[in-house]
Amino acid sequence: MMSPELLSILRCPKCKGLLHEQTAPVALACPACKLTFSVDDGIPNMLIEDARPLAESAAQ
Ligand SMILES: [Zn+2]
Repeated sequence: MMSPELLSILRCPKCKGLLHEQTAPVALACPACKLTFSVDDGIPNMLIEDARPLAESAAQ
């Protein structure tokens, strides 16, 4: 789990929108861009180049 403080200050690097935390695997998702950003050892990788497409089934 990521700290709520960290989650609250993180924004999508593309649209600057709010991110949603995902679990199993832990990732940060932007519903607007339909991208997910991986989190390694609690460190979010916010590089757009490394983002993965958000699966439709995981969209909220
Ligand atoms: Zn976005």
